[in-house]
Amino acid sequence: MANTITVKNPATGEVIKEIKKFSQEEVETALRKGFDYFPKWAKTNAHKRSELLNNWAVKVRENKAELAKMMTMENGKPLKESYGEVEYAASYIDWYAEEAKRIYGRMIPANTETKRIIISKQPVGLVAAITPWNFPAAMMTRKAAPALAAGCTFIVKPASETPLTGIRMIELAHEAGIPKDAIQYVTGSGKEIGDLFTDSKYVRKITFTGSTSVGKQLIKNSANTVKHVTMELGGHAPLIVAKDADVELAAKETVTTKFRNAGQTCVCANRVIVHEDIVDEFAEKFVQFAKQLKIGNGLDKGVDIGPIINKSSYEKIVDQITDAKKKGADVLLGDQFDTDEEKDYYFVHPTILNNVNEDMDIMHEETFGPVAPITVFKELDEAVKLANNSPYGLAAYFFTNDYRTGIYLHEHLEYGIIGWNDGGPSAAHAPFGGMKESGLGREGGLEGIEPYLETKYLSIGNL
Ligand code: NAP
Repeated sequence: MANTITVKNPATGEVIKEIKKFSQEEVETALRKGFDYFPKWAKTNAHKRSELLNNWAVKVRENKAELAKMMTMENGKPLKESYGEVEYAASYIDWYAEEAKRIYGRMIPANTETKRIIISKQPVGLVAAITPWNFPAAMMTRKAAPALAAGCTFIVKPASETPLTGIRMIELAHEAGIPKDAIQYVTGSGKEIGDLFTDSKYVRKITFTGSTSVGKQLIKNSANTVKHVTMELGGHAPLIVAKDADVELAAKETVTTKFRNAGQTCVCANRVIVHEDIVDEFAEKFVQFAKQLKIGNGLDKGVDIGPIINKSSYEKIVDQITDAKKKGADVLLGDQFDTDEEKDYYFVHPTILNNVNEDMDIMHEETFGPVAPITVFKELDEAVKLANNSPYGLAAYFFTNDYRTGIYLHEHLEYGIIGWNDGGPSAAHAPFGGMKESGLGREGGLEGIEPYLETKYLSIGNL
């Protein structure tokens, strides 16, 4: 088996770089180093850890242009989105640099005069992370920053399709003064390194962002040594447009949330559920805005939609469109493709399908591409039922100007992240994560540091 990974530009199929695959021994050595360094990093005082994290954020911003270009080349997303992701990634470092100083314990009253009870927080230990290709910088920092802030050492395996941005981010952490053994990376096959991580006696926590199927495997494998797990998994976000919604706003925000990263995000709106009285008006506006999106190489000026990451992802998208059309969906926009199998690049034009129903695969399988299916509802209950009819529970969106409808939807949607008249709710200061098969735990906000901490209880007697 090859001992290198070939990183390609998905917009052109050209090879960007060959990088090494770590051998089993090298991965084990890295885990050992992270484990050995843990007590030292855990004892480094919180203000110092905070200062080093702040230095890292500065370095990331100083190198924004280089990181963004590298990200667009290996991932395909438009340059403006890559700039946005680098800033988003840095915002997690900023946030947890502050949280490092706010890891509070507490003292609780005992039930006798001769005792004192103290609750304290301690870092869990060495954390091993596995990240996906669709957000190569931010999915790493929202794990690394709280881990380091809490006093854990950290090791990451970036996705094989997009390892370069992650590697550069780790180099910048070292340049910022964070010790080499406190934050490390390894590269190679997900399955092989995943098994080494879950089998390792040195690793106390696995944190993963990626598909639900791999997440389930990692949870199972972590059970042998009862590791902590945080899982950010797949999604199939519903987007409900109520009868009283501001249709123009809803259409604009749907374009933003659907077509970002060519529809390859876990929180992309994948099922557009519109009240039957306004569906024609909504569809017309949605098509009008989506038509303006420019498709192409993300490095070119004005491009809004880049390529699909690889052939198998492209084929899944085409299958979903074909299945929907066969079962009666109407194509309002798109259903066009620019591909070159020999060169190995695949573009899907923004596609909008109408008259979609629940018999179609696109309503059940996660869509990782720029395809939006529209279906209708009459009563709000029906919309909620459609929205919740999924094993996923990551993000949901709704558009309404009626506060009763809004509160009702908020309370009844089984989703961890909800946008009300808002197509972009993600932020470093808010807890991000899913219900049901979309995951376990939260990243970001106050909640995002808790999974890296153990609670310790001390009872002092005989006073
Ligand atoms: P993926 O196939 O699960 O891969 C993600 C990572 O897992 C990669 O680093 C991959 O390594 C590794 N991997 C693959 N097989 C593995 C195994 N058997 N054991 C351990 N690790 C393994 O997912 P993806 O296609 O890259 O990413 C898209 C998925 O991520 C979607 O389902 C999306 O919804 C989800 N996602 C979720 C969130 C969230 O916050 N909830 C955010 C972004 C993406 P290799 O690259 O070496 O194969």
